[in-house]
Amino acid sequence: MEFMILDLYHKIKRKWMKFCLQPIHVFCMHHVCNAFDAESMNACDWMQIDEFKSKVLALQQDGVEFISLSDAYVKLTNDKFRSHRYVVLTFDDGYASLKEILPWLEEQQIPATLFINGKYLDGKSYRENPKEKYLTKEELFVLTSPLIEIGNHGWEHKCATEMTAEKFAESVKRNIGLLSGHPNYIPFWAYTYGSHSNNTDDYLHRQGLVPIYIDGMKNYNETVIHRELL
Ligand SMILES: [Zn+2]
Repeated sequence: MEFMILDLYHKIKRKWMKFCLQPIHVFCMHHVCNAFDAESMNACDWMQIDEFKSKVLALQQDGVEFISLSDAYVKLTNDKFRSHRYVVLTFDDGYASLKEILPWLEEQQIPATLFINGKYLDGKSYRENPKEKYLTKEELFVLTSPLIEIGNHGWEHKCATEMTAEKFAESVKRNIGLLSGHPNYIPFWAYTYGSHSNNTDDYLHRQGLVPIYIDGMKNYNETVIHRELL
């Protein structure tokens, strides 16, 4: 009985939120660059630059405003009413191809968040394919424009729920150890492959990190962030 009342309360609360609040879309991307390189990229992780630009410009023409992830989180945790439409751009894995799109975003004054695996910034390590190219640590640490935010994606690109609690904690702490030295570091954690559990969420919250899923959902008012593909 108690469970049914609680369930009903959450359903009504969500309906009310949807009525009062425009959702904030947080988009997840990987490679946005001119040439698709079959040796180092997955086709599903790549978007041609012109296609990306036209999508971004179409959203702006439609009255949508691009904001940073930090600003979106402030709105998501405080707004009681939201009529304006906001979106956020995020890029995962810290690929070298970011160098092709970040200058255009800066020119347009559009913020972006990069979710980084610390291990691959050494110019030698790679996630699964030795031809994958990542930003180097030097390249990442000179990205100090106020439009860029740097968040966590794990020390290595491994599934959080396939690690022991100790290994997950090590991955979190080691990545924070490196990235928190970046002036634009933000305490947000984008799960690799979107895989998460209550235990991993609890651990991240205890470390002061906001968990971020990739589950195709929009955000209303929450303490976790949902992402979708652009
Ligand atoms: Zn990733």
